[in-house]
Amino acid sequence: MIEDKNPKRTPLSELGEFKLIEHLTEQFKVKQKSTVTSIGDDAAVLNYDKKQIVVTTDLLVEGVHFDLSYVPLKHLGYKAIIVNLSDVYAMNATATQVTVSIAVSNRFPLEALEELYAGIATAAEIYNVDVVGGDTTSSTSGLIISVTAIGEVKKGEEVLRSGAKPNDLLVITGDIGGAYMGLQILEREKEVFKVNPNSQPDLSMYTYIIERQLKPEARKDIVELLKELEVKPTSMIDISDGLSSEVIHLCKQSKVGVDVYENKIPLDPQVISTCEEFNIDSTTIALNGGEDYELLMTISQEDFPKIKGNPNLTVIGYMTEEDRGMHLVTRAETKIPIIAKGWNALGES
Ligand code: ADP
Ligand code: MG
Repeated sequence: MIEDKNPKRTPLSELGEFKLIEHLTEQFKVKQKSTVTSIGDDAAVLNYDKKQIVVTTDLLVEGVHFDLSYVPLKHLGYKAIIVNLSDVYAMNATATQVTVSIAVSNRFPLEALEELYAGIATAAEIYNVDVVGGDTTSSTSGLIISVTAIGEVKKGEEVLRSGAKPNDLLVITGDIGGAYMGLQILEREKEVFKVNPNSQPDLSMYTYIIERQLKPEARKDIVELLKELEVKPTSMIDISDGLSSEVIHLCKQSKVGVDVYENKIPLDPQVISTCEEFNIDSTTIALNGGEDYELLMTISQEDFPKIKGNPNLTVIGYMTEEDRGMHLVTRAETKIPIIAKGWNALGES
């Protein structure tokens, strides 16, 4: 379905490991003050003075986390960086460096890895992080990518999952459900393509949700916005697995309960119309969809005037005492327990 824009196929064996690493990494220029030495030695040297460091890793496995029949390699490289930076921002930290490790089979020519690294380089440029190392090895079948992201945060400015208090407001950035619905469209088109390889799908009405799936962004801007507004959330997490499981993480680790208001959950019109087309409930998708990489946070009521009216931040509920439990308050004003997966909005109300 995705056209091969680069028809040349140079076998990796033609370069050997060292030439390959050199070829893929020569484009990376150091931007961060904290990067003392980058790629090329046994390890990178980083200097953070007295700042605290945050470190996070994610592993992406072909066939488990991505399907190369509809994910262009460039987008995959971009997304591999984004999902890690999102975890750094969820700590209220600034991302500064990444390392990228790949295991690749000889099924991939050099040009495929060039595409992957073009995506990695674009993300590193846009998010202002240095690629300071990694590892390259072979794999017997699929592609595996592991990214480690490093960031910095001043002592006392880090935001954990465990700091929410009863009466705090539950706040979400952007809108959710788009990445999941984008995936539904891509999977549907893949099936159509199998039956009729000449089909030319018109995906123009799904551009936003497909972009949410293929080219997600991490909310670096929100960490900067919170600083500007002088708001330090009491707890924060990024939304990688769906709103309900992230809400549950915040509640469990903070030992609080929550009331989430169904009618406050921000949904893009394309999510609503695509849910209608697939005949699925949009709240179910918002709760269980995942991969939106928005931030979910709690803030003290006192800070409400500072965030009020900001188009990036939506209050969707408030925290309660732990023994009140975790609930969704539906449009019909009934309370439904929030569970991690398989919640059925229509079936239970
Ligand atoms: P070593 O034998 O010490 O593991 P390598 O030959 O694997 O060293 O790597 C040489 C340099 O290139 C190191 O600085 C390493 O961090 C970097 N590097 C290796 N593979 C990658 C990759 N896929 N992406 C970015 N940097 C890499
Ligand atoms: Mg190595």
